[in-house]
Amino acid sequence: MVSKRLKGVPASGTVSISNLVSHLKAQGADIVSFSMGEPDFVTPDNIIEACKDSLDAGFTHYTPSAGTPELRKAVAAKAFSDNKIHCTAQNVLITPCKHAIFMTALAYLDPGDEVILPDPSWVSYEACIRLAGAKPRYIPTKFDEGFVIDPELIAKAITPKTKMILLNSPSNPTGGIMPYKVIREIAKIAVENDLMVLSDEIYESIIYAGKHFSIAAMPDMFDRTITISGLSKTYAMTGWRIGWAIASENNIKEINKLQTHSISCCVSFTQPAAVEAITGPQTEKEAMVREFKKRRNLAVDLIRDIKGLDVNVPKGAFYLFPKYDSKVKSDVLCTKMLEDAHVAVTPGSAFGPSGEGFFRISYATSEDQIQEGLSRIKQFMLNL
Ligand code: GLU
Repeated sequence: MVSKRLKGVPASGTVSISNLVSHLKAQGADIVSFSMGEPDFVTPDNIIEACKDSLDAGFTHYTPSAGTPELRKAVAAKAFSDNKIHCTAQNVLITPCKHAIFMTALAYLDPGDEVILPDPSWVSYEACIRLAGAKPRYIPTKFDEGFVIDPELIAKAITPKTKMILLNSPSNPTGGIMPYKVIREIAKIAVENDLMVLSDEIYESIIYAGKHFSIAAMPDMFDRTITISGLSKTYAMTGWRIGWAIASENNIKEINKLQTHSISCCVSFTQPAAVEAITGPQTEKEAMVREFKKRRNLAVDLIRDIKGLDVNVPKGAFYLFPKYDSKVKSDVLCTKMLEDAHVAVTPGSAFGPSGEGFFRISYATSEDQIQEGLSRIKQFMLNL
């Protein structure tokens, strides 16, 4: 009875493993989880207080479907100052990030269309593309090149069916960031070939070296780009489900049509809290990034000490994507790692064909857990 659309689209690899970990932990298993990309920090107090205030004030009903005017304005101001994207509140749609990606796919892709995206890429891009009836066209990226996509390969992959280029920098699962030059070249290719760009910038604030650049800020790019970001990772707000899409007024109107027919609007009482997150003190956000960097360095050192593993030092996000020296398929390896070593990681193959031979570690967890988990992985690799 399941639709043809859904048949063959697997459940999210990241969310499934996290569900399994919760189930095993509830049964008392001692699991170290490097599976979910979710900061272990508590959302900063000022944001929680703003949410409580909005609940106390009875701000518990629908908001306009595109979001409160205050939040749309705050996001536009942030996009201008941080991302150099010239926009106003009318260019902002408040919505959970993942929903923004899903709606963008439904709004712009038709059956037969092709979407160019880096390989490996986050698990839900391919699913959203396929659910819209379109096809992913993966561009392999290389470990030795920090998994940065090569614009020449993008240009070569374009066919008359290509509709969109999907970018994600800093990248989930590799932590790689795209340098200015690469983004500039991709922008030129998009303009020359009249393509749309979906740019997922959810890790934009978690950068340890280099700088974040938004492709929507490049010449002639604003009208063809949907920029997606949000609060989940930057302010440890994964459970709040709040983010945004930035695009031309027309594109926002089209995507908002889908919002009116799906969730109506984002949760009301989180929106004043989101304004506080964006406009309030940023000290805790900065402290979290410093902490992630310490954890990254610790995890890289420990992984480099494990025989059979190699890893590069990513410049952003909170993921490591080690490659392992064995012919075992990554999903088999990860299942065995969970069963034998009680450590949960995500198989590289969940992120696309080039992810085979790798697994993803989310190091958004305590140093103690990183030490313990990697010491278990060390033993596991010895026994492999
Ligand atoms: N984006 C995070 C991850 O990759 C959260 C789970 C998900 O949405 O896939 O782990």
